[in-house]
Amino acid sequence: MKELKAVLANWEAVIGLEVHTELTTLQTKMFCSCKIEYGAAPNTHVCPVCLGMPGALPQPNKAAIQSIVLAGLATNCQIQRRSMFYRKNYFYPDMSKNFQTTQGPVAFCMYGGIDLEVTGAAACERDQRQGTRPLASGDGYVTPIGIQRIHMEEDAGKMVHVGGESGRITGADYSLLDYNRCGTPLIELVTKPDLRTPEEARLFLQELRQIFLALRISDCSMEQGSLRCDGNISLRRRGSEQLGAKTELKNMNSFKNLHDGLAYEICRQAKVLESGERVLQETRHWEPSARRTVSMRIKETADDYRLFPEPDLAPYDLSDEFVASVRAMLPELPAARRTRYLSDYELPAADARLLAADNDLAAFFDSALLAASANTDGDLSASGLGGGKGGQAKSVRLVTLAKQLANLLLNDTQAYLNVHNFKLVDTSLTPEHLVQLAALVADGELSSKQGKEVFAQTIKEGTSPRDTVNHLGIKQLSDTDALQAVVNDVLARFPDKVQQYRAGKTGLLGFFVGQAMQATTGQANPQLLNEMFMQTLAE
Ligand SMILES: [Zn+2]
Repeated sequence: MKELKAVLANWEAVIGLEVHTELTTLQTKMFCSCKIEYGAAPNTHVCPVCLGMPGALPQPNKAAIQSIVLAGLATNCQIQRRSMFYRKNYFYPDMSKNFQTTQGPVAFCMYGGIDLEVTGAAACERDQRQGTRPLASGDGYVTPIGIQRIHMEEDAGKMVHVGGESGRITGADYSLLDYNRCGTPLIELVTKPDLRTPEEARLFLQELRQIFLALRISDCSMEQGSLRCDGNISLRRRGSEQLGAKTELKNMNSFKNLHDGLAYEICRQAKVLESGERVLQETRHWEPSARRTVSMRIKETADDYRLFPEPDLAPYDLSDEFVASVRAMLPELPAARRTRYLSDYELPAADARLLAADNDLAAFFDSALLAASANTDGDLSASGLGGGKGGQAKSVRLVTLAKQLANLLLNDTQAYLNVHNFKLVDTSLTPEHLVQLAALVADGELSSKQGKEVFAQTIKEGTSPRDTVNHLGIKQLSDTDALQAVVNDVLARFPDKVQQYRAGKTGLLGFFVGQAMQATTGQANPQLLNEMFMQTLAE
């Protein structure tokens, strides 16, 4: 099969996503007071309403409506003041009511969109960039992705197929039903077909996940199925405006599967079209292990579901006051956080992106900066670096500390958390200690290697970095007399390299510094060594 890049040179992929998110942070289900709990014993959180017993009346969950309005506001949707619920009829054992309560033509949230940043290697999949603009950082582009609607619906139960090989219903001996998930509030976001590459689709889903996590409306676990994504995809010749027949792709339960499934389907459709055949409008299943998509069924149309108004639920009239009260609950979103880290602290773009994407790390970083700025109040810059938002002068000191803090969080802290499978709250690290350590490294009192040593102690034992330094007697070697002896010794050991350096091979400086660092078991101040070698070699 042809490579994706070669296919995309001739064909334009038109991709839309349908993203289902379970509102897992809510206590109770959408229309009854059954508890929402992942992993509970089967069929222990059920009642007449979510099982659809005759005569049971649904009552909507206000917190769920708040959550979907939050999602809509965060993705720039228009909140529809008037909407209602419908019954989507289907017969399948995973929903004992035989209909799913969902929304009809008008959803709570409609006509939104976000600006998607596509960076690094991901930017390479799209070489024709109509409708995009380059990123200020120069390593990618921004493209607007429209959101058609976000509507509210309820989840179905879970089926476990026993026997057979694939765990699918085909070939199974029997199936088990767990109705605990039945009636869990689910929001479905439908994008416009604005995505053009599998990478854009992957990044969009990641951005959306970050937004929903920041809103705290779901744990967004693709592994546990609280965030699920289907893709609609069609191809058209480059330059053509007409849409081709589309297929719907299912079972893309990780970011990698979403990317790989779409990439495979783009190549498959190109092959079909190039051989003069027609793409069938059908639902296909991505099989990650076989790395292919297989046909599941020819697509149903909306008519098959006999959508009709839910007679047991009154239409909604969301008041302006309600929408305003939800708007007031909006936290800072990842995109705004990224911009703030770039403009206020001049973090490297990649660091700003990584930090802003992680709520815990970002909150810790912000607390640390607050502690740092309390300590650097009298140190505001007069060097022209000032002029952040709101005319606040930016402290050079704070910018230096921020970079060091970001580095400690993204590298040392993250590595520690990964190794021990901890969350930040499981450790003894405090923002104040991290600031202290950042300052010790920034001021050259500790080499970065010594910083790592002290960090290990701080995050494990909760001791203050300053105490650890005193206790262990760690001190960066900055005594120029002692260091000069080391410098002279290194130069005496490598006379041929000295000759090469003086003949213009100045890249050897790093080699000399490395030798001196080794000789001092990493205790020396590398910046100072750098200067001393340059000076001595110039003599
Ligand atoms: Zn119930």
